[in-house]
Amino acid sequence: MRRKAVVDRRKCAYCGACVAVCNINANELIETYLEINDNCNGCGICVKVCPVGALSLVEG
Ligand code: SF4
Ligand code: SF4
Repeated sequence: MRRKAVVDRRKCAYCGACVAVCNINANELIETYLEINDNCNGCGICVKVCPVGALSLVEG
C-alpha cells in the first residue's frame, strides 16, 4: 500500500520546515497554501519536523 503525506490546513502555520526537509521536492508553499504532490513517497520526514502536527501519513 502506498503512503502519502497530507496536510491539515487548519493547523498549518506555513513555516516551510516540511519543505526544507523533503529531499525530493514533493511539497511546496504556494502563497499561503502547502501543496503536496504525487511525487511524495510517504517517507514521513516532514511529519516529524512539523512543529504544529499539521502533517500525517495516509494510505493510498
Ligand atoms: S512524506 Fe517525505 S516525500 Fe512526502 S512530502 Fe513529506 S518529506 Fe516529502
Ligand atoms: S512544517 Fe507544518 S506548519 Fe510548517 S509549513 Fe509544513 S505543514 Fe505547515
